[in-house]
Amino acid sequence: MTALEVRNLHKRYGQHVAVDDVSFTVDEGEIFGIIGPNGAGKTTTVESIAGLRRPDSGSISVLGLDPVKDRAEVRERLGVQLQESSFPDAIKVAEALELYSSFYRDPADWRELMELLDLTQKRSTQYKALSGGQKQRLSIALALVGNPRIAILDELTTGLDPQARRDTWSLIERIRDRGVTILLVTHFMDEAERLSDRIAVIDGGRVAAVDTPAGLIARSSALQQVRFRVRQPLDESVLTDLPDVTGVEIRDGRWLVTGTGELLSSVAGALARAEVVAEDLRVDQRNLDDAFMTFTGRAPQAPASFQREVG
Ligand code: ATP
Repeated sequence: MTALEVRNLHKRYGQHVAVDDVSFTVDEGEIFGIIGPNGAGKTTTVESIAGLRRPDSGSISVLGLDPVKDRAEVRERLGVQLQESSFPDAIKVAEALELYSSFYRDPADWRELMELLDLTQKRSTQYKALSGGQKQRLSIALALVGNPRIAILDELTTGLDPQARRDTWSLIERIRDRGVTILLVTHFMDEAERLSDRIAVIDGGRVAAVDTPAGLIARSSALQQVRFRVRQPLDESVLTDLPDVTGVEIRDGRWLVTGTGELLSSVAGALARAEVVAEDLRVDQRNLDDAFMTFTGRAPQAPASFQREVG
């Protein structure tokens, strides 16, 4: 049932503590997201899981194996798409897939993967001539070519346009549906929220929170706002007396109620009890950005390459 277990992981580079104390478990078949500010230790954590870094202390179990001691076995079961994968410029798509599949004992059918990742038309194209999205899809295909039980995807959609990002998300869901457990490191809150079953927020080399996206959002300290109009008279105390409500304002004939918890149902219930009908009722939803702020004290930042692309 448990695909991955990380216990008290600690890793320094010289005097610099990159990962202080990170623990989490990932169940088989889960998409597990890792989010956190730049330099929080996310990549060091996943590189340690992949056996590319040797932890200073703590333990990691990948399907019951130790990534350092059982490096060869872990390589067979865990595929990695790391940041800025680079391949020889002249290698062609089909050549890269065939070559990488030869490194594994029980590889996936690379032609089928090429089809799944929509690269068949580009089979004879050199790596240097691929678009950003195609390069990204090739690096995902190469992470999957060993037929892994677990795939680590780091900055999956950085540099992709909005349509390519959405296409990649559906692809990841299809891969999960084939039974692959996915560890997803991302700077994009929409991506983490849309794809992850659970998310770890890592900050300063420690786990600040682990929960479902909805759970993290519910724990966010951001205030919600419910807005509506009424035709009947309404006594403000009907709302201000509610424990979830922190503020009530009337602006241009519209009521604005600010608060926490189950604000919408509290307000709707109070209005119903007062026999007042709310019209044009809206709620401003909190999202994962708010949760990120709550747990890290900072706003999430898209990677520089993405900021450049979107303007
Ligand atoms: P980002 O979101 O910016 O990719 P991250 O959360 O993945 O960051 P890491 O790449 O794990 O963070 O880095 C954690 C810390 O360790 C950072 O302060 C980084 O500068 C430092 N670091 C990472 N790799 C090395 C290295 N090879 N040598 C020295 N310091 C490093």
